[in-house]
Amino acid sequence: MAEIKPQFRLRRLFSPSYMTARLAEIESFSEALNRAARVPVYVYFLIINGCYWARGFIKRVAPWSSFPINVLNKLRLATEDLLRDIALRKRILFIRPAPPDALNTEDIPPPEGMRPERLMHALLFIHPACNYKCSYCWQSHPQNSAHPARSVEEYARCVERFNRMYGSAIIELIGGEPFISPNIIGILSALSRENSLSVVTNLSWDPKKIIGKLKPGRISLTASYHPEQERSLKGFVEKTDMLRSNGFPVVVCMVAFPPNLPKMASWLDAFYRKGVFVIVFPFMGTWRDRPYPQAYTSLEKEFITGANQFLYMYPGLDIPGESVKCLNFATSFMLNGASPRGKLCNAGVNYCRILLSGEIVRCGQYGTMDEATTKSEILGNLFKTDFHLPEKAMPCPFDACGCLGESYYMAGGPLGPPKGNAH
Ligand code: SF4
Ligand code: SF4
Repeated sequence: MAEIKPQFRLRRLFSPSYMTARLAEIESFSEALNRAARVPVYVYFLIINGCYWARGFIKRVAPWSSFPINVLNKLRLATEDLLRDIALRKRILFIRPAPPDALNTEDIPPPEGMRPERLMHALLFIHPACNYKCSYCWQSHPQNSAHPARSVEEYARCVERFNRMYGSAIIELIGGEPFISPNIIGILSALSRENSLSVVTNLSWDPKKIIGKLKPGRISLTASYHPEQERSLKGFVEKTDMLRSNGFPVVVCMVAFPPNLPKMASWLDAFYRKGVFVIVFPFMGTWRDRPYPQAYTSLEKEFITGANQFLYMYPGLDIPGESVKCLNFATSFMLNGASPRGKLCNAGVNYCRILLSGEIVRCGQYGTMDEATTKSEILGNLFKTDFHLPEKAMPCPFDACGCLGESYYMAGGPLGPPKGNAH
């Protein structure tokens, strides 16, 4: 039976028997550093938890103290917002446009067999495992998935059937981290026979893994930059350069995690200088007791909106002027929490998500990665023969649309139903 380690407590740092056992487990210098770095994090959370406990205690023994505590809390939040805004404003001034000679890789063309009357975009979850642990990650990453790993042949067979039914598609592959799958080169090669692929990756791998092995004209990469995990921005930029100079279009994406916002301006600058598009995703979650994206300051919202660029994903929609409309439309739903309920939406008609189980759903609100949350809304299963996508836009039954790419399909979006059908 595996040894059950005693839980870490600060006092155990002074216990020779505990420390000798833990030190003996260390296998490398980086592991030693990693373990040492966990101590200040532990202390930080200890202090935070202590503050919450103290606040609860004071409220219990002296209920009248709620008022001054709330006032102090509001003051603290307002000061934090102000300081972040000042830092952000200072950095925004230094964002420079791309120089005219910046490397410019054309986006991949839409696949030849794409039906103009049914531009199909599918998001395919390939596996849950990831080699990073970002604190803002919205997914859990079980290393041993309950879903069997699919073979290259199984993907090839099922996607061929999908293409026969609905034409070629733009397929966006997402994990976990797709490139830690041993089969990934074979899978990408099979899927890109009739479709254009966009792979969402943390780019922790060597670009030589695909250069010369995959056709650049069919595959683009959405490289997510995670500063907590990726030590070197320079190294990351060099990888994107290498891929782009070998014909693989790369766009970079980042999460606008509130503490990162001031530094984000200089990260954006590093990519813009090379002519790379950057998509900034609003953070969806709680940070320091406040719900995001609602808690962004107006300057932060303005910054995120201005930094976003989407049209690369929709080759058929590259209409000058439309980009601004699409951008404003999608971000207003994310940042301002507008409700899509009742609006006609083409999710399901022009867009679908394929979950790890193979279940096909209209959008992320019906299922994120593992399984559909609303069984009655499963449109079928990619790995079985029984799937049919709806022919017409349907009203949205939700109060929030959580993904920038998906709110595109709502009435008023560029792929939404014609005017007149919209609610
Ligand atoms: S790289 Fe992406 S999938 Fe992996 S932990 Fe970070 S956010 Fe999650
Ligand atoms: S509006 Fe958003 S949440 Fe509603 S069905 Fe469409 S994609 Fe899904």
